[in-house]
Amino acid sequence: MSDNAVHFSDVGAAEQEAMGVEKGFESTELFVFLEECTSSWKESANLNVQLLCALCQLSIDDPQKAKIGFTSQELVKAISTIRGRPWSDASDKAQMSDDIRQQWNKLQKTWESKGEGIGQQLSDAAIPFLPRLAKTEGGGSGNLTRHRIEWVSSGVTPSADEPTPAAPVINVGAATIRYVCEDIQDANLFASAFTRGYFLKGWRKYLYIAVLAVPLLFAWLMLVHVLFGITWAYIVGTKDILTSLLSLGVMYWALWASVGPLYPLGVDKIVIAPWWMQSTEEDRLLERRGPSRYPEKSIKAVRYVAPCPLCGGRVSATKGRLEFFGRIVGRCEEAPVEHVFSFDHVTRNGKCLR
Ligand SMILES: [Zn+2]
Repeated sequence: MSDNAVHFSDVGAAEQEAMGVEKGFESTELFVFLEECTSSWKESANLNVQLLCALCQLSIDDPQKAKIGFTSQELVKAISTIRGRPWSDASDKAQMSDDIRQQWNKLQKTWESKGEGIGQQLSDAAIPFLPRLAKTEGGGSGNLTRHRIEWVSSGVTPSADEPTPAAPVINVGAATIRYVCEDIQDANLFASAFTRGYFLKGWRKYLYIAVLAVPLLFAWLMLVHVLFGITWAYIVGTKDILTSLLSLGVMYWALWASVGPLYPLGVDKIVIAPWWMQSTEEDRLLERRGPSRYPEKSIKAVRYVAPCPLCGGRVSATKGRLEFFGRIVGRCEEAPVEHVFSFDHVTRNGKCLR
């Protein structure tokens, strides 16, 4: 927690009310908003996200208690209600603390990857606060560990009439969507280098250049080698020309599939990530970031998602296929061929393309 965090538990009730009234927000509204944000997450059925929902619901029901936080026992009860079946062991306090601690740690990881998206959604709604997970460790007689969400001032202008230029609030009608950027959470070993942003400076910059340059050099050498081999074969009359050409083709294809998507990144600024970074859905993108939108030059693995205005499903930015060749478009998971939207990673707005 940074020292300048102005959270509700630090300020008195009167002060907090003044803060809320002044900025036009009540803490209940904030928790309702946060809970709505989580409903569109892919991980919404995971226990750690249910823990977050439980925290929101308990905070909505008892705003006074939300300031000091909720015990493991209260959270277990709320999670069981959300799941519609008992979770953990309601008769064993140690078991409940253990289970909540485990999910809390997982939630902190999920939280890291959702931070940017939550910030964008709050900023779009002109809400000048950012949520943070907070925990007071128990100890001594009767002091139980308590979990809560603190709201920190984000400096966003709390006026819906004057949207900030970076995040214009648009009319989300039937044909338009608003994307939210997510970090890649379940990245594999190779992709994890890009999940927190690969900063293009120092040796990392040269390594990146090498990753692009070495395959090109290699491809060129192979071509020279094979052409030389073919010429030689003509002269001495062996029959392995076809084998050479085939192996050259396979080699080029493998090289292109592995690093090919990185080449247009400098020009297009955002590309579909290569296969070794993808999961089963091809929704992972590589974004080239830099001044003036970001303080430093970097390449970041991200995912852009939005709720589908047509069916309520999940739209994610992915391949344009033949119809939108060369473009990245938003496709709904429920109807990937019909519910198609344009994708703009700068404005984060999308229009229905049907
Ligand atoms: Zn849809």
